[in-house]
Amino acid sequence: MAGLLLHNARLVLPGVDAQASLPWGALLIQDRHIAAILQSPAEIEAARGTTEAVDLEGQVLMPGLVSAHSHSYSTAARGTENSLPLEPWALYTVALGRALGDEAFRLAVLLTAAEMLRGGITGCIDHFAYAGRAELAFAAHGETGMRVALAPMLHDTPDHDLLGIALPDALRRRVEGPPRPGPAEMDALFRRLHRDWHGRDGRLLLLLGPNAPQRCSPALWTLWRNLARELDLGAHTHLLETRAQAGIGRRLFKDGVVGAMAAEGLLNERLSVAHGIWTAPNERALLAEHGVTVVHNPISNLVLGSGVLPMADYRRRGMRIALGSDGSNSGGRHDLFEVMRLAMTLPRPGIDDPADWPNAAEALGWATEGGARAMGLAGKTGRIATGYAADLTVLDLRGAARAPLVENLVSVVHYGGPDCVHAVMVGGAWVYRDGKVLGFDEDKARDRFAAVRAEILETAKPELETADEAAPYFAGLAGKAATKG
Ligand SMILES: [Zn+2]
Repeated sequence: MAGLLLHNARLVLPGVDAQASLPWGALLIQDRHIAAILQSPAEIEAARGTTEAVDLEGQVLMPGLVSAHSHSYSTAARGTENSLPLEPWALYTVALGRALGDEAFRLAVLLTAAEMLRGGITGCIDHFAYAGRAELAFAAHGETGMRVALAPMLHDTPDHDLLGIALPDALRRRVEGPPRPGPAEMDALFRRLHRDWHGRDGRLLLLLGPNAPQRCSPALWTLWRNLARELDLGAHTHLLETRAQAGIGRRLFKDGVVGAMAAEGLLNERLSVAHGIWTAPNERALLAEHGVTVVHNPISNLVLGSGVLPMADYRRRGMRIALGSDGSNSGGRHDLFEVMRLAMTLPRPGIDDPADWPNAAEALGWATEGGARAMGLAGKTGRIATGYAADLTVLDLRGAARAPLVENLVSVVHYGGPDCVHAVMVGGAWVYRDGKVLGFDEDKARDRFAAVRAEILETAKPELETADEAAPYFAGLAGKAATKG
């Protein structure tokens, strides 16, 4: 019996009672997958005799976490959060993004992966704003060992047009920057990415990544629909993140932006939408009915003052939920434990019956199976079950900050954090172990980033000045959009 036996651990199995002690047992890993879950001492002893075994005494084996909404490039913009709402904030993140060269993009992917792996995250959706560098991003993700769905962005309609903000011509040209690739170029790019990268190493996946429906012209909506069908691809998009966007949606589309997506046949189980805070009731009904996954990014939503997800209503409607850490310059750390806790507790004050509060088991489901579904991997990863990919996180809860009275799911979700992640496996291969990222040289990536950051800031200077000049035009947006809508 060739393979790897992970034994003597507490197992986070599907459907466990959040408060009951986690069951003890072992996993047999073969051919990148969980081949068997062993819970009887005799079976485990027999397996130990025939295969390589790792003793995880005192540790917890859980399914790897998934950040179903992130932007890798923003890791190169840590420390630039500026206490502005999304629309003016975006001027600055775009300015910084444009200042990044190829090496900075690669380093941002590697440092994002290092942070995620150290936080027990085995998979992510990278909603990637610079589609022209998608091949570079795929190559960097390939180095890390993580499971990644890259969603290169489609967009051609700037927010100032959507919001009716009249920028002076010269400023407008500077804000808009160099012309974007047109639909024909994007069509060719996606076909090339699909041919060269989709499914590579069994770990890399391509998704269509409309920036947001309203930021796409009718030609890009057509491209989205056609590529989804012809290349058989899922999609990931921002949706109704701010109140101003809700105003735009109502103004542009008779039945709101979600109604328009439904009419175009773009709502389905292979679509995930990040944020979804400002949906109208009819839009919520459509999303739930079509099995769309809403990716909740509670930290980013609070940092940018965007709002609070109507989670209680979404749960009543049976909405599929996943969790995201979003960009490093809006969501802070890629810490899915923190995201789980916030997602689980934010709705509680609005739900009268505590029996109906989201609990640790539900939050973990959002952060694992929910995320796997958003990546297009429902039934393939996201839980410890036979036949699922061996995407696993090993936690050590024995430190003074935990040392739980009961080793259960509550201990994992309420107290867990990157500092108790001991090891991470993706597709049966260790990618983080004993304090070391194994796929690439993390120290070198960090040192190179430190060496290039002064140059990034220098390059970004004129773009940041443009953002400073444009930001006042975006002041008081929510009010403006509301009166126009
Ligand atoms: Zn985002």
